[in-house]
Amino acid sequence: MLQFDPVQLPDSSHALRDEIRQFLAANMPSGHRPNSDFLSGHNPQFSELLGTHGYICMNIPVEYGGGGRSFFDRYVVAEELLAAGAPVSAHWFSDRQFAPVLMQIGTEQQRKKYLPDMCAGKSYFSIGMSEPNSGSDLAAIRTSATKVDGGWRVNGTKLWTTYAHLNHYMIALVRTAPVSENRHHGMSQLLIDLHDDSVDIRPIKNMGGDEDFNEVVFNDTYVPDEDVIGEIGNGWNQCTAELGYERSGSERFLSTFRVYIEFLKLFTDPPNDLQAAAIGRIASNIMALRRMSLSVVGMLEAGKMPSIEAALVKELGNNFEKIMPEIARLAAPLDADKTEFNRTYRESILLSPSTTLRGGTREILRGVIARGLGLR
Ligand SMILES: Cc1cc2nc3c(=O)[nH]c(=O)nc-3n(C[C@H](O)[C@H](O)[C@H](O)COP(=O)(O)OP(=O)(O)OC[C@H]3O[C@@H](n4cnc5c(N)ncnc54)[C@H](O)[C@@H]3O)c2cc1C
Repeated sequence: MLQFDPVQLPDSSHALRDEIRQFLAANMPSGHRPNSDFLSGHNPQFSELLGTHGYICMNIPVEYGGGGRSFFDRYVVAEELLAAGAPVSAHWFSDRQFAPVLMQIGTEQQRKKYLPDMCAGKSYFSIGMSEPNSGSDLAAIRTSATKVDGGWRVNGTKLWTTYAHLNHYMIALVRTAPVSENRHHGMSQLLIDLHDDSVDIRPIKNMGGDEDFNEVVFNDTYVPDEDVIGEIGNGWNQCTAELGYERSGSERFLSTFRVYIEFLKLFTDPPNDLQAAAIGRIASNIMALRRMSLSVVGMLEAGKMPSIEAALVKELGNNFEKIMPEIARLAAPLDADKTEFNRTYRESILLSPSTTLRGGTREILRGVIARGLGLR
């Protein structure tokens, strides 16, 4: 049975929230137009600045360059960065999932080698799961790694790899043994240097005309044994465990939050009943989703891997962030100057098809949730 225990943020988080708000007021890159989506801005200078101030990898131990703080502290900072529309894409995957993964299943050598730069906001990772003909059906991946002296030779193609053209490394799910009766066997995770000459990276334009995801081709790419993540053959379990980090955060319901802010700014007069209902409906949805998301953070803090609860947060969150701009548009005052509201609304329309695809589609998440409820 799914259970979302109530979680209160610790008192210390209020001071941290004030601190990060002040930091953002003083340090938002000049000319940056706020957008809540966590994939909206790849800005290494800003990531490094966050790293210098200790706002990246806050939950990683100090000895590896992290903040030695709790998952809750990381949550507060992430939430404020998203609400302010800060450009966080460069370090997002390192901070959200790969630094915790290295802490959990990485070797001591890997932690010492990779974590300090990740924590400093200088080292950026991509997620290497999807392939042509293998998105929802991840067990169908065909990228293979063959054992050679001292390491592995990787061949194959990854698809939709966010920011592979700008990031340093990919943690890739690959086949290290042929498909057997159990399709989830024989997969492993390798840490691959995206700057290696044998890796071809081709950006793909998204609907808005921007380049954020890529096709990545490995041509006999050599990966030393020391860059195997976790255990050979355990890649499927490792990947699915990671989803607790990947699917539960506030980025799964705040992608269109900026539209709400601009909507509220339109009200110079008190809202009428219809408008008040729209404001309340959006606020109550955000509050409920946030409560669930925080509950998952509580589970992560307790060392659990709540991938089913995380799937529920993502599924409800993505559906809400998709319809929210329309609720706002229908209730927006007619005579207000809507320049900024229209800009964020337009962006949200271009973004919205991707929210229920990236990180697992709606149908797949519903299947995971149904299994968690014992219905499948
Ligand atoms: C903006 C964006 C960024 C992304 N970034 C990354 C990244 O960094 N790294 C990465 O590895 N991947 C990334 N992806 C890929 C993403 O994970 C896949 O698009 C997703 O898993 C779906 O896979 P697919 O595109 O192959 O679609 P398919 O799996 O072919 O699905 C097509 C449709 O069929 C439905 N469907 C599929 N199987 C079933 C089923 N069994 N039952 C019911 N319905 C089903 C799906 O729900 C979907 O609606 C990104 C995608 C987007 C849009």
